[in-house]
Amino acid sequence: MNRAWLTVDLEEWYHLDYLERAACEATGVRVVPQIFDFLDMLDDVGAKATFFCVGEIARENADILREIARRGHAIGCHGWDHVRLNKKDLVQFREETLRAREAVEAASGVRVIGYRGSCFTLERDKLEVLRELGFEYDSSKIRFAQHPLYRNLDLTGYDLVDDLVYRQDGFTEYEIPTLDIGKWSVPISGGGYLRLFPFWALRILLSLYAKKHQNFTIYVHPFELTPMKLPLPKTLDWKARFRCLVGRRRNLAKLKKVIRWLTKRGARFITMEQDRKERGL
Ligand SMILES: [Zn+2]
Repeated sequence: MNRAWLTVDLEEWYHLDYLERAACEATGVRVVPQIFDFLDMLDDVGAKATFFCVGEIARENADILREIARRGHAIGCHGWDHVRLNKKDLVQFREETLRAREAVEAASGVRVIGYRGSCFTLERDKLEVLRELGFEYDSSKIRFAQHPLYRNLDLTGYDLVDDLVYRQDGFTEYEIPTLDIGKWSVPISGGGYLRLFPFWALRILLSLYAKKHQNFTIYVHPFELTPMKLPLPKTLDWKARFRCLVGRRRNLAKLKKVIRWLTKRGARFITMEQDRKERGL
């Protein structure tokens, strides 16, 4: 393995697509302030990460964003309110992206040039808007045919410059990989799947992955990095409950093992911004 990009979608648990937001938000329970254990773990293993922050929570977490930047991680933008992008037209998208970038920059004190769309719903026309607004990289592309929400971002005209890395005129796209087994894409790079598989199983899947790939992208969320109890609504069905809660308790320790395992096999955990700088992308 060569490079690994550890990414965090810095959002609240009530931003999850399948939760009824207002009721969850009203409980007052917040997971983003619990991110310090994760930051300490990253320092411990010497890994740098790229954080994509939802604009509307930037101000209330300004001290956390500054601490993230102080520890040498990169900060990008994850939209304004985490509503799926296919529910917004281009005018709304442009307006909310500007608002979100401004909020994240004001809170963090750093210039924001990176973007990730909510629920991987970014499509080509909105990618063009990002470029017009001066963003320099994005990481919204995932190849995962079975998931009903995800879109496969069209990158026609982009050059593949390295495994998972695409470029066009100074703009870089970092793909989130899946592991192809037969006709199935196994999303080993993050979310519920990363929590679901025990480490021994992940090790097998990652070994298979490493045979075909040089680079890897991981994505995680604050609610997956803390065992803090979440007051899920009683009406939530068992499937959503399982999806939200599975594997949370041991996830931080498991992630540390994954980072160590990949590092031993040559992967360098650097930010996307550092990567672009190193290679002059
Ligand atoms: Zn998200």
